[in-house]
Amino acid sequence: MRLASIAVLGGGPGGLYAARLLKLGHPDAQVDVYDRGVPDKTFGFGVGLATRTQRNLQDADPVSFQAIADAAYPHEMSMQVDGHVAQLPDGNLLAIARTTLLAVLQASAEQAGVRLHFDVGCDVRAIEADLIVAADGAGSGTRETFAADFRPEIETGAGLYLWCGTKFALPTALFTPVTTEHGTFVAHAYPYAPHRSTFLVETDKTTWRNAGFDVTTERARPTDSDQASLRYLERAFAGALDGHRLLGNRTRWQRFRTVKCGSWHRGNVVLLGDAAHTAHYSIGSGTKLAMGDAIALDIAVREAADLDGALADYEARRRPAVAHLQEVAHRSEMWWESFPARMHLPVAQLMLAYLTRAGKVDIGRVARNAPALARRGLADYAAVEESAVPEADVTDWILRQPLTHAGVTHSRRTVHDDLRYAATTAILNVDFESPWGSAADALVGAPPDTDTLWLTGSRDRAALLVRLDLAERLRRATRSLIVVDGSQRDIGDLAAGLASARTHLVAVTREVPV
Ligand SMILES: Cc1cc2nc3c(=O)[nH]c(=O)nc-3n(C[C@H](O)[C@H](O)[C@H](O)COP(=O)(O)OP(=O)(O)OC[C@H]3O[C@@H](n4cnc5c(N)ncnc54)[C@H](O)[C@@H]3O)c2cc1C
Repeated sequence: MRLASIAVLGGGPGGLYAARLLKLGHPDAQVDVYDRGVPDKTFGFGVGLATRTQRNLQDADPVSFQAIADAAYPHEMSMQVDGHVAQLPDGNLLAIARTTLLAVLQASAEQAGVRLHFDVGCDVRAIEADLIVAADGAGSGTRETFAADFRPEIETGAGLYLWCGTKFALPTALFTPVTTEHGTFVAHAYPYAPHRSTFLVETDKTTWRNAGFDVTTERARPTDSDQASLRYLERAFAGALDGHRLLGNRTRWQRFRTVKCGSWHRGNVVLLGDAAHTAHYSIGSGTKLAMGDAIALDIAVREAADLDGALADYEARRRPAVAHLQEVAHRSEMWWESFPARMHLPVAQLMLAYLTRAGKVDIGRVARNAPALARRGLADYAAVEESAVPEADVTDWILRQPLTHAGVTHSRRTVHDDLRYAATTAILNVDFESPWGSAADALVGAPPDTDTLWLTGSRDRAALLVRLDLAERLRRATRSLIVVDGSQRDIGDLAAGLASARTHLVAVTREVPV
């Protein structure tokens, strides 16, 4: 397919990377990027790049990846609660200043022959080009202009977050809660340069109101940061900040908006990155998704015979991966929103719960990659010495641990059907889509008064993850023994649910082949 002109609306990571790849694939085409901002003046601080993202960028374009990796800052990860620390050794995590990432991508795009235009706010209807890539971010004007075609659905999270930074490099990425007289705030922070860290803080609406931040948010002008909130958080997180100040960049409390669209293309216009979809920041995947879209669009445009086919192919290739990550991100978002309820867990066990929160990492992998952390967390789970935790086959070991609940000792954490059919067991058929929706809220608000609650339902994995999250809510709301049933195929999720204190016991069913 021959393209004479390509216009990219938006010079964020998605737009710039797409422009470079498309220009390399179509050297004869004129490729222009338009951004309403100016270089060096962007929102935000650092951006995390996980191992898989690094691999994808390396495969797609080793030259620009090397430039990104050279400018990035490596870090490990830790969680700190009430002075207790759990560390996750992982030498492969990188973070980079958003300004640096954009500068690298701008230079790489220009080297390929892309023309960059800054300080140009564009309306998609005024652009003429064979292909228009709308990478104009989460608040995409293009998506709104053609809303009837793109059919956006936007869901706003209940929690609030504030994205700020600090002028010192934390020793590791850090998750840490602080409880003040107003409620609990949790920091997600990581170093991204020798003297810089991102410091993102989240809280719930009640705490936000109690601290008077509804008023300070209202008062801060759109071009300013909410200084009153920054000063408050500086005091609250003085320990983690080691006395350093928090810096804003048009920083104010916001609610995360998850964007989904019914379609990503219309005629010669295609949505890319945050304009098409967003995923909660707690899985650190927005930049990866935007750059992954750019890779898929480039391949589709190279391979297809015509533009319609290329854009349809791009969407078909990307949708499953994006939908999967949005599901994972939603589970992670809800885990963080309910974080204060888990702060009683020993910190290493809490870290295991964090790592397995969204069903993306299984407990066996944690045990292989971070044996010391897993041993401490599993010792906490089973209330045994660390030396009693095996180095391998932890899944089976987790299931074999005894439990005493309400004066009754169970010899292992798996139970049989006789408990299911006991007179004092209530069987709950969980057929809700979300463990956080109104049906789940009603159940958690008034659970059956019985010795045992047995959560059953569909054998598919998504339904099991719903049951495990609901089990955790019920476990906090009742004194009942909670049992979740699931298939042998998902034994890793069942074991993670036990080790993370989501459920007391599990029942494992074997699928009968048909
Ligand atoms: C709090 C928070 C933390 C995050 N942390 C991470 C993280 O750790 N890792 C990660 O991968 N992602 C993270 N993200 C997400 C990440 O910032 C975005 O997903 C990513 O920037 C998306 O890239 P993009 O190119 O699609 O859009 P953007 O980066 O938003 O770029 C859009 C560009 O379009 C321009 N634009 C908009 N409208 C117009 C117009 N009309 N005319 C011209 N230009 C226009 C804007 O100026 C902007 O430069 C985080 C997001 C948030 C909110």
